[in-house]
Amino acid sequence: MKQTMRAAMVQKFGQPLQIQELPIPEPGPGQILLHTEACGICHTDLHAADGDWPSKPTLPFVPGHEVVGKVIKLGADVRSFQEGDRAGVAWLYRACGECEWCITGWETLCPQAQYCGYSVNGGFAEYVIAEAKYAAHIPSAFTAPVAAAPLLCAGVTTYKGLKETEAKPGEWVAIVGVGGLGHLAIQYAKAMGLQVVAVDVSEEKLALARELGSKLTINSTTQDPVRIIEKELGGAQGVLTTAASLPAIRQGIAMTRRRGTCVLLGIPPGDFTLPVFDIVLKRITVRGSLVGTRFDMQEALALAATYDISAHTKSGRLEDINTILDCLRQGKVQGRIVLDFEP
Ligand code: NAD
Ligand code: ZN
Ligand code: ZN
Repeated sequence: MKQTMRAAMVQKFGQPLQIQELPIPEPGPGQILLHTEACGICHTDLHAADGDWPSKPTLPFVPGHEVVGKVIKLGADVRSFQEGDRAGVAWLYRACGECEWCITGWETLCPQAQYCGYSVNGGFAEYVIAEAKYAAHIPSAFTAPVAAAPLLCAGVTTYKGLKETEAKPGEWVAIVGVGGLGHLAIQYAKAMGLQVVAVDVSEEKLALARELGSKLTINSTTQDPVRIIEKELGGAQGVLTTAASLPAIRQGIAMTRRRGTCVLLGIPPGDFTLPVFDIVLKRITVRGSLVGTRFDMQEALALAATYDISAHTKSGRLEDINTILDCLRQGKVQGRIVLDFEP
């Protein structure tokens, strides 16, 4: 077997990633080594590479947390995977397993949690180490690794976020931002019996939203989504803000129906003031949601297999990572670009 692998590393925040040769890591106890087949490029990877968030990764690091690969080596005491299995590595890389949140099925909130491609090296690399207890089993229904990869973050995050809106079948959800997350959110929402109104700043993304079954689409650069959603629907019972934009979050809260819930997924840097009066008088819930637990992941993968939920993907190569990240920065990516590691 080879001794080294190619990986795209962030050496300095805001600078192009560098392709480097790194030693192929050895799986320790409870770990598995994956030969990467595909890795989706999430907007979070861009926040990580740009050092956007208050708690920054330690440099240098390898981003990537929508990893699908073949298990090629088992560390000691691994019982849940065998060599040759297809596994997925997601944002939640590992948690302590013992704290209040871990033992109540909220391991995503564990204060000791490690994040793939952020606090540990991720999938912009030919090989990746995963924790067997936190890696996903990719159902055999997914034959194409590139198609499955976006479900590992964008899929599970929007599925969980939709559950967190508490919207019921027949009710309306507004998906604000139809990018990697949003275009999967529309498909999950439909599978969950919800009606979708989609908001974006790009006509191309809204065309995709209509193709995927959004009943109403609003371009917020030319129309006021808050006014239209109020007039047409009386507000949306559930709102999912996936855009990395503070104005989009403000609009998301304003389009939430009385007694509804606005779930924040996109994490633009910065803050804004809450419209306290409206939130109180309309009894609105504003709630953050972070990826999904291992069980949410199982459900999200199963639902995708059953309802043919599939990411709109374009394949990219590791050496093109900086061009791809620039496209994402400029809002030009339709669906998801996924690194394809097949030779
Ligand atoms: P993306 O770039 O693929 O999609 C963002 C979309 O938002 C694009 O379609 C863009 O046109 C649209 N947009 C931009 N400004 C807008 C505005 N003002 N109004 C409406 N739409 C607007 O990004 P992505 O991969 O879908 O990720 C989106 C955000 O979600 C990022 O901040 C990312 O870090 C975050 N994220 C959060 C979680 C979580 O667990 N909460 C998980 C994954 C990603
Ligand atoms: Zn992500
Ligand atoms: Zn914990």
